[in-house]
Amino acid sequence: MASVSFPYDYDAPVSQTLFDRAALVTPGGVNSPVRAFRAVGGTPRFMVSGTGPYLTDADGREYVDLVCSWGPMILGHSHPAVISAVQEAVARGTSFGTPGEGEVALAEEIVARIEPVEQVRLVSSGTEATMSAIRLARGFTGRAKVIKFAGCYHGHVDALLAAAGSGVATFALPDTPGVTGAQAGDTVVLPYNDLEAVRQAFAAHPGEIACVITEASPGNMGVVPPGEGFNAGLKQLCQDNGALYISDEVMTGFRTSKAGWYGVDGVRPDLMTFGKVMGGGFPAAAFGGRADVMAYLAPAGPVYQAGTLSGNPVATAAGLAQLRLLDDAAYAKVDAVSREIQALVTAALSKEGVAHRLQTASNMFSVFFTDGEVRDYEDAKRQESFRFTAFFHSLLANGVYLPPSAFESWFVSTAHDERAVQRIADALPAAARAAAEATS
Ligand code: PLP
Repeated sequence: MASVSFPYDYDAPVSQTLFDRAALVTPGGVNSPVRAFRAVGGTPRFMVSGTGPYLTDADGREYVDLVCSWGPMILGHSHPAVISAVQEAVARGTSFGTPGEGEVALAEEIVARIEPVEQVRLVSSGTEATMSAIRLARGFTGRAKVIKFAGCYHGHVDALLAAAGSGVATFALPDTPGVTGAQAGDTVVLPYNDLEAVRQAFAAHPGEIACVITEASPGNMGVVPPGEGFNAGLKQLCQDNGALYISDEVMTGFRTSKAGWYGVDGVRPDLMTFGKVMGGGFPAAAFGGRADVMAYLAPAGPVYQAGTLSGNPVATAAGLAQLRLLDDAAYAKVDAVSREIQALVTAALSKEGVAHRLQTASNMFSVFFTDGEVRDYEDAKRQESFRFTAFFHSLLANGVYLPPSAFESWFVSTAHDERAVQRIADALPAAARAAAEATS
C-alpha cells in the first residue's frame, strides 16, 4: 500500500475536509475501498455532480471521467433520457414490493439482447447476482465445488473472495479475514487463461464441481482478455463434466457490445450475471440463463433467492432507458472514442520511453507498466505500479480522472466528445514524463 507524499499533491481542501469528516463515521472514510485512493495516495475527490464525460468535485474542479462509475455510465453522466425516465418513475412512487411492469420490460430487453438468457432474475448488485448464480448452480447440480480464477473479481461473495481482483488486488490481500475455511474451502482457485489447470482440477475432483465462474473478459486485474479458445474450452470442459459454465458479465455486459462479451466471442454460457450498465447508474443487476436451470429458483423451484428492492421501479426505469439508447451506433461511438484515447496514451508513453502494455477488450482498456504480455494475475502483479501512481496523479492534477489503481479497467462513454479527448491529449505528455521519471 502506498503512503507517498507527492510532488503532485496539490490542494483539494473541501474534499479533504469531507474525507476527514467521513473517516470519523465510516471505516476508512469510504463505502467501497478503492475509492479511498490508498493504492495511489493523496486525497480522494468527493464528487458533487456529473455531466456528460465530466465530473465536478467539491472544490469546483472539473475532470474528464475515465471511470464512468466503474462502468455503468456508458451514456455519460446525467443523460437527459435517463434522468427523465427516473423523474417519471419517482413521481409514481419509489418502491412497491410487488411485481411491476418495469421489471418485466427490463427482463424482456435482456432476454431479447442476449440469446443464451432464456429467463432472468433481477437483483440489486453484481455481488448478489454472482452469489445467487453460484447457489443456483450448486442446487441444480447437487455439487459443492466452484472453480474461479485468480485475479477475477465477482463481488464480495465470501466463497469468491479467494485470490480476487479489483480492490482485493489493489490491497494485495491474500485472503480476507472473516471468510472462514468452510466458506472458501469449496472454492478451487486456478490461474487465468490456463485450460490445462482446469482440466486437471476436473480430474482431481470427479463429480464434485458444480460450476466454473469466470469474468467473460476480465477487467478486475486490469484488462486481461481470454486467450483464443479459452472460454470455449471452459464451456466444453464444463459440459464434459456435468458442471455449469457461469459467465460473469457484470462489467462487460451491455458494454463490450449490444450483447456484451457473448456478442464478441459467442460462447454460450449456462448462466450469466449482469450489473453496472443495465442499472443506468442505479442499483440493478441480474442473473439468468438456461430455462431448465432457472426453473430451480424459488418460487418455481427449491433454490431460495429474494430481495426487498429487487426489480425496483426507479432502478429498472433507469436501466431500461439506458439500454434502449444503446444501439449499434452508440457502441460504434464508444468503441471509436476508446480507440482514440488508447492511441493517445500509447503515443505519449512511447514518446517518453516508458515500458507499457495497453490491453483491450472491445472498448474496455487499461495500461500495464510492463513490457510483456499480461495473460494472468501473476503477470499483472509484475508491473511497475509506482509508475502508474505518478501517471495517475499527474493526470488528476490536469483534470483527468483515472481509476485510482493500476488493477482496474478504464471506461469511456458516448459522451466523450472531441473536447474531452483534447483535454486528455493535453494532459498526457506531462503524465507520461511523470511515469518515466518515477522511482519505486
Ligand atoms: N462481477 C464483476 C465482474 C465485477 O466487476 C463486479 C464489480 O466490480 C462485481 C461482480 C460485483 O458487482 P457489485 O459491485 O455491483 O456488487
